[in-house]
Amino acid sequence: MSTAPPYRPPLSRRNFLVNASGTAAAAFASPVAGPRTQAQQQPSNTTQVISDLGHANKIQLSQVHGPSEKDEKAPGPFLPQEKRIGYAIVGLGRLSINQFLPAFGASKYCRPTALVSGDHAKAQKVATQYGIPESSIYDYRNYEQLGSNPHVQVIYIVLPNGMHEEYVVRGAKTGRHILCEKPMATSHVEAERMINACKKANVKLMIAYRQQYEPNNRAVRKLVTEGKFGHLRGFVSTNSQQMGDAKHWRLKKSLAGGGCLPDVGIYCINASRFISGEEPVRVTAQIWQPKDDSRFAEVEASVSFSMQFPSGFIATCTTSYDAHKSQSFRMEGTDMWAEMSPAYAYYGMKLKLSRLADGQEISVYPEIEDKDQFALEMDHFAHCVITNEQPHTPGEEGLQDHRVIEAIYGAARTGKAVEIAQPKSFTRGPEPKADS
Ligand code: NAD
Repeated sequence: MSTAPPYRPPLSRRNFLVNASGTAAAAFASPVAGPRTQAQQQPSNTTQVISDLGHANKIQLSQVHGPSEKDEKAPGPFLPQEKRIGYAIVGLGRLSINQFLPAFGASKYCRPTALVSGDHAKAQKVATQYGIPESSIYDYRNYEQLGSNPHVQVIYIVLPNGMHEEYVVRGAKTGRHILCEKPMATSHVEAERMINACKKANVKLMIAYRQQYEPNNRAVRKLVTEGKFGHLRGFVSTNSQQMGDAKHWRLKKSLAGGGCLPDVGIYCINASRFISGEEPVRVTAQIWQPKDDSRFAEVEASVSFSMQFPSGFIATCTTSYDAHKSQSFRMEGTDMWAEMSPAYAYYGMKLKLSRLADGQEISVYPEIEDKDQFALEMDHFAHCVITNEQPHTPGEEGLQDHRVIEAIYGAARTGKAVEIAQPKSFTRGPEPKADS
């Protein structure tokens, strides 16, 4: 499968530094070509508002520092509140309360407009914090009433994995677009039903793969597409954490679908797929489920797996619910490597790039501005809703991860390699635009 790397002129140290940091900036500046939808050709009012804001409402502050200092950038322009895409948050657990709701503060196009929770008192407290009226608090039984709330355009499902299918299917019937947390479901069969339900209801479905909107991950992806790595050869990654509460739903098979693999191991699978732009064709795996630890009565504690891709590129990954928190990857190509640790965290990603320049191995830590991944993710979906575009991470992207996860479990169970069929079409939509 291996082919000789294409010839590339030697790189000087200076050019390497310029290229490495320039890529990070350029990754977000260049709009990506894709089929223009009717909505794009004839901008909606909201699209027009976004475009008008670009000139009229851009705030310019005078620079107070000397020319040797970096200038500060004023954020924006942001959509006015009444023009923003309204999100209903379904499930008020850790991710909603600690990450997603605070991210609305950094969002350009979104606002929280409704809550769905089984705990009314908790929902009231959250509603008070975010200015959501009492009339926009729902529970799991009257969830469908979201369909008559004119301030809700998107339903965000952030419930245990085993509940995603039911709430996506019921949500789609309200006519609202759906953002669903990863893993999409607990099996590829559920994932297919979710895609079909959203198609039937003519609503968009996006899976919340936040790292695909995160600037450092995007920078590595851009370097790959520009051919800077040469041929990809290896991806080594881990995503592990220590679980404490044996009663938590993440350790129950019916609610979680598995243990560490679908919850945190999925990041290694997804990163290897989206950064390489390839799909695995063959997996081998080993699994560990200790009999003497009550946390792992139903699900695995650790998995180690290897995925082979069509070009010969191999991803070797480990994931665990019984190891100290560790989230890293290393992408190795014939011409350079990239290392990121943490790679899958909510913030603070640290990227290192290394290659030969002027006969010397040069390593750089490109300066990439930390941005709120959740705000970028929700704004991307809002942009897709406004412009009627396909999300970058639609249901098909989540479905493919389920196919890979099932192959890994199969390989671990049988001790034999499992082949995976290539998806019939691309699993991802157009690259996220700079302003989304
Ligand atoms: P959590 O346990 O903190 O919250 C789950 C919420 O679901 C709670 O509000 C709980 O009350 C509610 N719930 C309703 N019915 C339930 C039931 N039968 N059993 C248990 N809880 C029930 O979980 P979380 O960490 O917020 O995770 C929610 C989803 O978000 C999961 O799919 C998870 O994989 C995903 N997630 C994604 C990320 C990410 O970075 N994208 C991070 C964490 C979690």
